[in-house]
Amino acid sequence: MEYSEIMVRYGELSTKGKNKKDFIKQLGQNVRKALGTFEGIEVKAQHDRLHVTLNGADSDAVMKRLKGVFGIENFSPSVKVAKDIDEIKQTAIAMVKEVFKPGMTFKINTRRQDKEFQYDTYQMNEIMGSTLLEAIPELTVKMKHPDLELRVEVRMNGVFLSGETIQGAGGLPVGTGGKAVMMLSGGIDSPVASYYALRRGVKIDMIHFYSPPYTSEQALAKAKELTARLAGYSGGIQFIQVPFAKIQETIKEKVPEGYLMTVQRRLMLRLTAAIAEKRHAKGIFNGESLGQVASQTLESMAAINDVTSMPILRPLLSMDKTEIIKVAEDIDTYDLSILPYEDCCTIFTPPAPKTHPDLEKSRKYEGYIDVEGLMKEALDGIVISEIRPGDNYLNQNEDVFAELL
Ligand code: ATP
Ligand code: MG
Repeated sequence: MEYSEIMVRYGELSTKGKNKKDFIKQLGQNVRKALGTFEGIEVKAQHDRLHVTLNGADSDAVMKRLKGVFGIENFSPSVKVAKDIDEIKQTAIAMVKEVFKPGMTFKINTRRQDKEFQYDTYQMNEIMGSTLLEAIPELTVKMKHPDLELRVEVRMNGVFLSGETIQGAGGLPVGTGGKAVMMLSGGIDSPVASYYALRRGVKIDMIHFYSPPYTSEQALAKAKELTARLAGYSGGIQFIQVPFAKIQETIKEKVPEGYLMTVQRRLMLRLTAAIAEKRHAKGIFNGESLGQVASQTLESMAAINDVTSMPILRPLLSMDKTEIIKVAEDIDTYDLSILPYEDCCTIFTPPAPKTHPDLEKSRKYEGYIDVEGLMKEALDGIVISEIRPGDNYLNQNEDVFAELL
């Protein structure tokens, strides 16, 4: 079936009262950005629906993109026909024949915007129902939960027929929830946490700590590639890489071993908060999950959190690892996350980090290093890049995938 448009239904935003306008405007922008590479497409964000006019573009490819846009409840590919009852009937028969299976049940659902149209909704339901029963006698009508609901929308500019409703990504349009920074490692968790932040409409900048020469080019490329996958949900993401080796070396030299991890994390958070403030971001997201590893106990979080008053948001806090992995697979980040490139924390993790660090001791040991000087140096060494959906950073390393698969 050659579709003329995709009709998009809004999610949660339709209940947002006075913010509704901003939400719709943002969603319109996000959809335009997501579909930017298709020629000739028109996007119209109206108060009750958003319409994507295809003008010949490949409907399957367009729908694939739409699936990644937050704020969309569901959508239906539709065929536009003239306001001519015979044409409407013929198109409906063709559409149903295409998906027909023995024993199929159906119903007609008409909506009429054009009140001048010769038939009202009740009459249209009747006419279309009997037309289909006559053309395909094996069909049966079922009002509740039919296999197929054929929607007939009589609008001012034509009649639109659709038989399929495809689930959207849900959530809120990215950009309506303000801006935050995300602490992205190369692990399994932080990409999933990023996905949840974006899904609640928050625009995120990625902050990634790396430690050359202790960490490889590939570890950095992996974090960027993960960002490129997540950028599909937001159109583009800024990636901020922060050099961390000097700080880690200094901490290793000056701080008692049991507190290496806690003090490192405090410095990471200090730097993250400083970057967030400079960029007017209002919060810090991370991939922590309670009890998962030594740095993720309540005491540890308290000892690390101590360095900033900015809100730290942990979308995965109460999720089990198996649940997190399931989402990572669904959002297509898992295969990258398990690539074996060590990140900066793995390398400087002591054999026995304190699982219940003491807050006062954490402060005291941190005092053994020149916090301000080291921070300034790290901030001066920041590199920022703009990452687009589908960008490729690991392409020279496809052999690594091959080995793993
Ligand atoms: P992940 O899959 O996110 O790496 P993890 O279980 O390995 O999770 P940790 O290494 O303890 O967790 O890190 C906890 C959180 O700290 C991460 O989820 C991430 O938000 C942040 N973090 C860790 N390492 C880095 C890094 N190199 N750069 C930026 N943030 C990091
Ligand atoms: Mg990690």
